[in-house]
Amino acid sequence: MFSKKTSNVPWDGQPFHIIAGPCAVENEETTHQIAQFLKANDILYMRGGAYKPRTSPYSFQGLGLEGLKILKQAALKHGLFTVSEIMDPRDIEQSLPYVDIIQVGSRNMQNYALLKELGKLKQPILLKRGMSATIEEWLQAAEYIKQGGNEDIVLCERGIRTFDSALRNTLDLAGAYWAMRTSGYHVIIDPSHGTGKKELIQPIALATQAMGFSGIMVEIHPLPEKALSDGAQSLDFKGFEAMLSALRIQARTD
Ligand code: PEP
Ligand code: MN
Repeated sequence: MFSKKTSNVPWDGQPFHIIAGPCAVENEETTHQIAQFLKANDILYMRGGAYKPRTSPYSFQGLGLEGLKILKQAALKHGLFTVSEIMDPRDIEQSLPYVDIIQVGSRNMQNYALLKELGKLKQPILLKRGMSATIEEWLQAAEYIKQGGNEDIVLCERGIRTFDSALRNTLDLAGAYWAMRTSGYHVIIDPSHGTGKKELIQPIALATQAMGFSGIMVEIHPLPEKALSDGAQSLDFKGFEAMLSALRIQARTD
């Protein structure tokens, strides 16, 4: 997916990429437990937020640089690549050694100062769609990164705001498919933020794979009910394994 020319992240050659991990890096023990679990399931990419963009300033804000170090250490131990969000251009330099794929979160899709700085890097960028962004605005945001010389960009659909409140967001699979078809970018889907409900992750993951998207990013936690953030949209280990086997069966029968 990401080009080998500019990064050492091996996306090519795999038909369906799975990024999984906790919403936030919470502590060393849980992070290592999750890394070990991912490795045992042949997953290559571990997510975990350290700089957390929380709607309320009173919610857990993430462990910051310390969290990135914990994530990287666990990932290295188990041979995984890290995916984590950077929100502030001032954090880029200190974060780079710990983040293999830099995530731009929904709230920062139009943070042009950030996008321009990321454009100067060689690190792959995972660009999430803004929660109220049109497809055109999303692609233009990617253009900001590309303009600086960094073309290792993968788009991630994570749901948009609509009039409906039954789910956390409205996952725009058709729009994301259109973006993939018209732009040529790899597009992955985030069923956790896209729906807000763990029960919906597996069916959406299967739909995503069937539609030919490049992969998914899913939140997991050993004890979702105890997670410091987004437990309701995080699969536990059993649920994640069930999803994986459903995906593998579908891949064989497609
Ligand atoms: C995340 O993936 O950790 C996250 C905060 O998602 P989003 O930016 O899509 O809300
Ligand atoms: Mn989350």
